[in-house]
Order: sequence, then C-alpha cells, then structure tokens
Amino acid sequence: MLAPSCQVRVVGLVGRSELNGRLATALRYVPGRGRWEVRLDGEASSAMRLGLKPEHLERIASTTGDDCAVCLNSLDTSEPTQTLTCSHRFHADCIKALRRHGAMELCPLCRKPSSSLRSVQSFLDDACALFVQHARLSPESEAARAVLSVSVRALEEAVAIDPCNATVQNNLGYALSRTGDAAGERSAYRAAIASSPTAPLPLCNLAQCLLGQDTLWENMFAYESGHSKDNVDEAISLLQRAIAADPRFVQAHVALGRAFMEAGNREGSLAALQAALEVDPNHIEANVELGTTLDFDDMDGAIAHFRRAIRADPHRRSPHSERAREELEMLLPVARASGKSKEC
Ligand SMILES: [Zn+2]
Ligand SMILES: [Zn+2]
Repeated sequence: MLAPSCQVRVVGLVGRSELNGRLATALRYVPGRGRWEVRLDGEASSAMRLGLKPEHLERIASTTGDDCAVCLNSLDTSEPTQTLTCSHRFHADCIKALRRHGAMELCPLCRKPSSSLRSVQSFLDDACALFVQHARLSPESEAARAVLSVSVRALEEAVAIDPCNATVQNNLGYALSRTGDAAGERSAYRAAIASSPTAPLPLCNLAQCLLGQDTLWENMFAYESGHSKDNVDEAISLLQRAIAADPRFVQAHVALGRAFMEAGNREGSLAALQAALEVDPNHIEANVELGTTLDFDDMDGAIAHFRRAIRADPHRRSPHSERAREELEMLLPVARASGKSKEC
C-alpha cells in the first residue's frame, strides 16, 4: 500500500519502459486522475514528476507519518477526519473531494472498495435509473412515491457532497417537482443556475416552474395561466438565456412562446414558436401552441399546424396531439361556415 513520501519502484510501464526499475518518491494521490504523483530519485530537476497508476508503483520502503494521503497535510489538526472500513484515515473534506471527482470508490492507499467513497456520479446514475422506473409507474401509486423518495434521498446525499454540481441540483429540482415541493424545486434550480449560469436545462426548468408548467414531462394539464407578472418576466429572461446558450433547445422556445403569451405579447409568442419549428418542424407541442395562438386570426395556418401535430404522433402518445385533435374539431366547423378557409 502506498502513502505519501514512501519509496517506490516504477514497474510495468509499456509506453515509457525506460523508466521501469527507476526509484521514486510518492508525493500525493491525485483523485481526479486516479494516479499518484511521484518524483523520480536522482533527477537534478525537481520538475521530473510523473503521474502513475498505483499498479505501476511498487513500494520498497516504508515511512511512517500520520499524513492525509490526499492533501499531504497532517491529520493531527482540528480538521475533521474520516476513517474508512479499511482503517485508513483522511481529512473528511479530502474524502468529499474524492467523491466529487468520481474516482473509483477505492481507498487511495490500499485500493479496497468502500461505500463511504460512493461518488456523486454514482448517486446521479441511481437517481436517473429511478426516474425511468418512476415514469413507468402510475404517478399516484404507493410504489411511485417510494421510488421518488429514494431518488430524492440519493440526490440530497449528492448535494451534500457537491452543492455546486449543476446537474445534481437540476435533477434534484426535477425530483422535487414530482413530489409537489415547488419551493424546494425552485431553490434547487436556482442553485444549479448559480453554479452554472449558462446551462440551458435548469434555466428552462426554473422558467417552467415559475410559469407553473410541468418540467420535462409533457403534461399540459399542469399548465395554468394567471401567474404573477414578476414570475412571468423572470421566466422570459431565463428562457432567453437558455436559448442564447443553446439556440436549438426546442423546449425553451416553446416555453418562451407560452411565457410571452402570458405576458400579453402575441408577436413575441408567434416568433418564439416559429423559432421552435425552425429547429424541429414536426415538434408536436410547438405545432399545437402555434395553432392555438393563430386560432381564428389565421384559420388555415392553425389548421395546418394542428394537422402536423396529429401526423407527428400517429400512435397518440402525447397529450399535446390529443389537444390538437380537440382544437381541430372545434375549428373546422367554424372555418367551413365562414367560408374563409381553403383547408376544408
Ligand atoms: Zn487531506
Ligand atoms: Zn485503505
């Protein structure tokens, strides 16, 4: 097992085989790279440092010293420490750093697996698998609630290790939206945006949350109008930032179209929805929203967009294409009666 300042021999290198057999001093373990930084002995220049995997280092002499192998500082300070099941001790903050970097969940000294080293990425992977499971269950069922609460716990643990991780915060926001905790949802998205101001997804999710629209999940029934002007204004600015960061983010264009509509800006709404359709002409929701916005002012246009939404969802999987069918049923008789439409 390796520790800082112990003597090692370089072994088994293929790329730089001339270094095999050289003696070196281990300096520190670099968690993000899963390698030890070592200084070759007998080199005039102290710049001769290498990053080598533990399997390429053979310990040849031992030095004792109660130092943390991650940061090389003494463990005998007031800083909290944490001892793994293998009985190796590190600074608690250094353990957190290991977990943030998604290193191999092995003790840096003896390579024994340890559940206390579970990485942020592993919590994220679990939460994503649970979301998929949740989507297959009936939302109100006991099983769905149980799956959700496990995923919230996993994400909260990940947040405790890495509060500045935008992906973790965004996913936590999403999980909380499913539990109906709107305040928690918003604060998670805000934390995601604070650490990653141009990440399009949390910008769009927070905007949709402020507008009372469902995040990610396509569920038009969650959409209500009549939100405070402040919320609508903030949502518009968040969505514009999301689009600036990713102009091809269709969902953000669609949400912006709705937000402008709520703000009473019909021109802005039409432009946003048309921008969505430039990215994806068959986007179901964008076609339905544009059809609804055009409505009686441009019946042919509205009918064409409703029809395109219906064609794009032949298996009737989306609630939006269902809405297109209903809208079309109402619009067609009016268009026929008025004689203004060439479409029917
Ligand atoms: Zn340390
Ligand atoms: Zn160990």
